[in-house]
Amino acid sequence: MTAATSSPLLSRLPAVRGLLESDAPLRNSTWFRVGGTAEVLFQPADEEDLASFLKRLPAGVPLTVLGLGSNVIIRDGGVDGVVVRLGSGFRGVEVDGTIVTAGAATVDFQVARAALMHGLTGLEFLCGIPGSLGGGLRMNAGAYGREFKDVVIDVRTVDRHGNIRTLSCADMGFSYRHSGAPEDLIFLSARLKAAPGDTNAIAARMAEIQKSREESQPIRTHTGGSTFANPNGEKAWQLIDTAGCRGMKLGGAQVSAQHCNFLINTGNATAEELENLGEAVRARVAEKTGVDLRWEIRRLGKKCSQ
Ligand SMILES: Cc1cc2nc3c(=O)[nH]c(=O)nc-3n(C[C@H](O)[C@H](O)[C@H](O)COP(=O)(O)OP(=O)(O)OC[C@H]3O[C@@H](n4cnc5c(N)ncnc54)[C@H](O)[C@@H]3O)c2cc1C
Repeated sequence: MTAATSSPLLSRLPAVRGLLESDAPLRNSTWFRVGGTAEVLFQPADEEDLASFLKRLPAGVPLTVLGLGSNVIIRDGGVDGVVVRLGSGFRGVEVDGTIVTAGAATVDFQVARAALMHGLTGLEFLCGIPGSLGGGLRMNAGAYGREFKDVVIDVRTVDRHGNIRTLSCADMGFSYRHSGAPEDLIFLSARLKAAPGDTNAIAARMAEIQKSREESQPIRTHTGGSTFANPNGEKAWQLIDTAGCRGMKLGGAQVSAQHCNFLINTGNATAEELENLGEAVRARVAEKTGVDLRWEIRRLGKKCSQ
């Protein structure tokens, strides 16, 4: 299905069963609620629709994938080319013994919940990460002592040419908040390993994780989670605090006073303000502590001036 529009790119794209929309606003698809439009947004009906689209996608058209937008800043100038967002055809969890298989668009919390329902332990940490399985695989997301690297068996992927391939956990090249898997891969689903556990204990652990998050993170604000990765042996938030950046503001963007490694859109921030505030924090931390912070948040698209 193709939405009516006059985009020159749209007319060059293959027909699909899912939805193709040109000049599609992305801000409401991200936690920060900032940013421009996708030149074309593609929501494939299912895996076959996505693979067949990719096989026929003209070379040179930029391709970007978006999960639940909980770890990205979409820049104000929008994203050129095709932005793929996986929807209901990529959602769902199946449990077979101690193996949990989930689609890439499944919300992490739902994966944790399915494991709980089957009395499986090991996936409780997922209830504290507000993203999708696909985004978690790309970021090697983690919390409370576990990360994707610890639970992935293998990942079904599709590349830019529509070839489907399964990568083992080792092939995913996981390291701290990073996967070394080629950037052009779209993750479709993954098999995760769990272990038999006590349902009450699993539920209690999930409740504990959620309580701790409520107390320590500004989870009810427009934010993007940890802005910077923790440098070796140090905590990004401590360095930011030491550099005096807690609560720092730039336009509608602010460094959270509750958790100073979180940036917040207080209401009317632009992506540029959030990004510039992040850069100002990096510069101040480098000046005061000598540490060069690495962005954990992915910045996608182009600035207005570009
Ligand atoms: C309040 C809050 C708390 C958070 N707490 C944590 C935490 O405790 N631990 C933690 O690790 N993170 C945390 N995060 C960050 C974020 O939730 C995770 O990184 C999450 O895994 C991102 O998933 P997403 O679906 O939102 O991905 P997005 O933000 O949409 O995308 C992130 C990256 O993944 C890529 N991507 C998305 N889907 C796919 C796919 N199917 N295939 C290939 N690439 C894909 C995107 O291109 C992008 O580069 C937090 C964020 C918020 C807002």
